[in-house]
Amino acid sequence: MKSEDIEKLKGVLKIQSDIRKTLGEELRKKDFIEISSVILSPITDPLNHPIAPTNINCYGKKYSITQSMIFHKQIALRTLEKIFAFSPNVRLESLERKNTGRHLFEFTQLDLEIKDAKREDVMKLCEELFISVIKSVKKNFKKELRILGRELTLPKAPFKQIKYKDAYQKYGEEFEQIISKTHKEPVWIVDFPLTNREFYDGEDPKRPGVLRDMDLIYPEGYGEALSGGEREYKYDRIKQRILKKGQKPSQFKEYLTLAKDDLPPSAGFGIGIERLTRYICGLKRIEETTLFPKIPGKRCI
Ligand code: AMP
Ligand code: MG
Repeated sequence: MKSEDIEKLKGVLKIQSDIRKTLGEELRKKDFIEISSVILSPITDPLNHPIAPTNINCYGKKYSITQSMIFHKQIALRTLEKIFAFSPNVRLESLERKNTGRHLFEFTQLDLEIKDAKREDVMKLCEELFISVIKSVKKNFKKELRILGRELTLPKAPFKQIKYKDAYQKYGEEFEQIISKTHKEPVWIVDFPLTNREFYDGEDPKRPGVLRDMDLIYPEGYGEALSGGEREYKYDRIKQRILKKGQKPSQFKEYLTLAKDDLPPSAGFGIGIERLTRYICGLKRIEETTLFPKIPGKRCI
């Protein structure tokens, strides 16, 4: 490795470490409790796009490697009110995703969830976190940003919001990339249609078929930053939504048992740390954000 490449990578890793520090500190100031991440479980996020399963045999029982901690976050709120985890996710993405510059098959999410919260609460929290992260990096890593050739601007909150329906009408199927490329500040996409998302995304009781959810889109062409929203939490509704998706309730047996007992209403989101690092550092590819990138289809250590 050339010494200038080592210098660049060192800068990126220092910035990533600062991003994690700021996120953890700001959340603790707001009374969030950090919980341990779950790596193995018989239940994990089924996701809404084709993905190869990561099943492993544990003592004759079928476990999966965590694809997201969504169910465990909801379950954790039976005990705590505000939680977060730096959660490693393994997603065996399709090979077509190896060249997007945005997909790894192992990555980390800052995953957080708040009991009794609404979508607007977590959107505001996200904006505050985002601004704190950028402020800290701009203040403490001037030299590193210069070496990376990155000029970071501090966005103004509240960020712009566009409804899914309007985005689709105006820009067509590729709305996410077009919005990302044509904006200089982050943009929220809200109100996704129920059929586009997972069964746990909360449906708006006043607008059937529309979800109380959101994605944040990075500017400058960096694409999706995070997904989140309010959750389904009532047993009957969750079961109905699983069936509507054509999935088997038995796959989520333990989750459904707990939902029958008690799952609190909540809202939250998960933001990919490597994508956030890529945006902050202005990098071409997500592989450049980590020492051990897992590129779909490649043998990576
Ligand atoms: P999702 O719930 O699927 O939207 O995932 C939450 C967030 O994790 C996304 O918004 C991204 O920031 C990040 N993410 C999802 N999949 C990947 C991936 N394959 N590689 C890197 N980051 C990802
Ligand atoms: Mg998403």
